[in-house]
Amino acid sequence: MNKDIEKILVSKEQIEEICKLLGEKISKDYEGKELVVIGLMKGALPFMMELIKYITIPVQIDFMHVSSYHGGTSSTELIFKKDIETQVSGKHVIIVDDIIDTGRTAVKMVELLQMRNPLSVEFAALLDKPEGRQVPFTAKYIGTLVPKEFVVGFGLDYDEYYRNLPYIGVLKPEVYNK
Ligand code: IMP
Ligand code: MG
Repeated sequence: MNKDIEKILVSKEQIEEICKLLGEKISKDYEGKELVVIGLMKGALPFMMELIKYITIPVQIDFMHVSSYHGGTSSTELIFKKDIETQVSGKHVIIVDDIIDTGRTAVKMVELLQMRNPLSVEFAALLDKPEGRQVPFTAKYIGTLVPKEFVVGFGLDYDEYYRNLPYIGVLKPEVYNK
């Protein structure tokens, strides 16, 4: 285990099992439909790559990179760093992210994709932290729930590090106090 990790919440094996179940479910739900899976950079990448291995129907993938800019007020603006190149109108969309916390990212991304006239937009996240919610949001595909703790690994970062860990873990408190 990495020396900065206090405990593992979701193991590599559990993540694989989650991705297998979600991939099989998505394959059933979208059978005969045109599906585009859109990963939100950077956090969603490891989860999305594992997930699509288990999608057995034809699927297009693409990536979007947005970051939120918190101005002086409570309102948050989205800054586009990379847009998708795939046409989504007339297709079904699943947006993929690492975790849903406040719900703001998910709500905004669903709204944004809906403006491009897809047939449907759903959301998939490896992790859900329901206690963190500040706006109501329920995703159709959730890997597993996590408590209101800051987690890292498998795409999730602290200060851009730890995304490469093959599991989801909690950092030792001294790492934050450095
Ligand atoms: P939301 O908009 O608050 O739902 O936040 C979602 C985004 O916040 C995720 O895509 C992550 O980038 C980040 N995030 C939320 N909770 C955590 C965490 O525990 N560890 C690392 N990143 C997190
Ligand atoms: Mg993120």
